[in-house]
Amino acid sequence: MSIRDFQPVIGLEVHAQLTTRSKIFCGCSTAFGAEPNAHTCPVCMGLPGALPVLNRQVVELTVRTGLALGCDVKQTSIWARKNYFYPDLPKGYQISQYEQPICEHGKLEIEGKTIRILRIHMEEDAGKSVHDADARASLVDFNRACTPLMEIVSEPDLRSSEEAAHYLKTLRDLLVWIGVNDGNLEEGSLRCDANVSVMRRGAEKYGTRCEIKNLNSFRFLQKAIDYEIARQVELIEGGGQVSQETRLYDPDLNETRSLRSKEEAHDYRYFPEPDLLPLTLEPALIDRERARLPELPAAKATRYIDELGLPAYDAHVLVADRAVAELFDACAARYPDAKKLANWFMGELLRVLKDRAGGLSSLKVTPEGFVELLGLVDAGTISGGTGKQVFAEWVESGESPKEIVARKGLAQVSDTGAIEKAVDAVIAANAENVAKYKAGNAKLLGFFVGQAMKALGGKGNPQLINEIVKKKLG
Ligand SMILES: [Zn+2]
Repeated sequence: MSIRDFQPVIGLEVHAQLTTRSKIFCGCSTAFGAEPNAHTCPVCMGLPGALPVLNRQVVELTVRTGLALGCDVKQTSIWARKNYFYPDLPKGYQISQYEQPICEHGKLEIEGKTIRILRIHMEEDAGKSVHDADARASLVDFNRACTPLMEIVSEPDLRSSEEAAHYLKTLRDLLVWIGVNDGNLEEGSLRCDANVSVMRRGAEKYGTRCEIKNLNSFRFLQKAIDYEIARQVELIEGGGQVSQETRLYDPDLNETRSLRSKEEAHDYRYFPEPDLLPLTLEPALIDRERARLPELPAAKATRYIDELGLPAYDAHVLVADRAVAELFDACAARYPDAKKLANWFMGELLRVLKDRAGGLSSLKVTPEGFVELLGLVDAGTISGGTGKQVFAEWVESGESPKEIVARKGLAQVSDTGAIEKAVDAVIAANAENVAKYKAGNAKLLGFFVGQAMKALGGKGNPQLINEIVKKKLG
């Protein structure tokens, strides 16, 4: 037996911080990186008598997410207290949703495969224990307490660590696209727990699963799952049994370690949150969020393939960034050759954008300028190579491509008279090569074209020069 005889079964729980400026139940700021405990108040510190007031925007952004993932958005959902004692949880419980979450039963497509979404619920984040700031004690920073989170729980439909990473990446891109999350895994805006089990191939019953907590990069997610699959297979093949538990991934040692035996729901003693009424959505709120949804990346890619005739690869590259895709749409509305446009986007625009902080908004790019530049190349006013040069200058300065070409004298010489004059001079000065060419040495054509181009300062239209040299040499 080997690892190939086993089928991994994986489900992900993704915690996504919503892009609100204030917390879920109070007015404190959610800004990252402030002095410890600068963004706290009696409500998020859970002081006696302080009452939570729901931030309306949290509901709106979660509804938008549910719609984007094709979920049923529930008219009524219930807030619950999830009770547990932990130093970074000031109230001793977390306000979350349990039996009746706001969204259920959606799906996300990853390269043709459908991953079902079980549920999306809203909850508050905990604070953060700091163990390395003081040698004698652990400290707690409550800035993050009460920060609004969405928990997006998938069904166990993922079958490999690659699929899991692909799912997380697709979900991250979608959340950023619809403006509900900043996609920043390093700052903890998106964190992921992975439920992993293995079963013998052909078996029908899932194996016992372990939960790996708090994975905060695509690479760690993949490595932690791979480690966990191998560990469980080895355990089973050695005659042992997987026990249901919560594990932590240690990136330094590349292994997962047992943290605690897995809690069952009853361990949390869930009960309805008495300080918050059941949440009832007006239909108008759902309609408004539906109207706010932009065309989603998957739909846009399909449209690029079906309507614009782009290759699937190009379509998926173009929709990786919403701002780039929207610029592409604006250009495609003004320019007929979508494939040529896509080539310029992938070759020039994305090359400039690579490793550039600030994204597309840091460049001085307009659809009008883009189309003007391509028009200059199409008309033969400048060569493709010169076009790339002009592109690089245009995106930095914002000076129009036409102005750049005029100011730097980059226009090609397409004046037939001037080219004929140059070619005549070259022929007159190279009688010997003319004789050889006429005797059958066709390779010398390149020599004449090169000499004429040189005489025109490198700016001659190469196609015209070619034609005229051929004509004159007969
Ligand atoms: Zn507060």
